[in-house]
Amino acid sequence: MARKPYTSEQVKAMLDFITGDHLYPEVKPYIRNAVLCKRCGTVAESGSRHAMNSCECGSVSADGGLDYLRRAFREGAEFTELSEKNPAYKDPNGTDDK
Ligand SMILES: [Zn+2]
Repeated sequence: MARKPYTSEQVKAMLDFITGDHLYPEVKPYIRNAVLCKRCGTVAESGSRHAMNSCECGSVSADGGLDYLRRAFREGAEFTELSEKNPAYKDPNGTDDK
């Protein structure tokens, strides 16, 4: 009784599960994660999940890449949000605001 070999789809699903790729789908919730500091006029932009970047004066920081927006800012900091949601992204939890 030989077991049937796995199909390429099954193998891919198993690899996705092991590597965790299924947790980070290609379609990201955001297409830009950036914030403009009104104090120094520079942009803090986070291009990937674990890339946290600050503006030149250090008043504001952007983190989270294209998966989520995280902000850190000093007291009294003023900034303009430059982030853009990805219109193609579907919230798997269905909690996306309409
Ligand atoms: Zn600044």
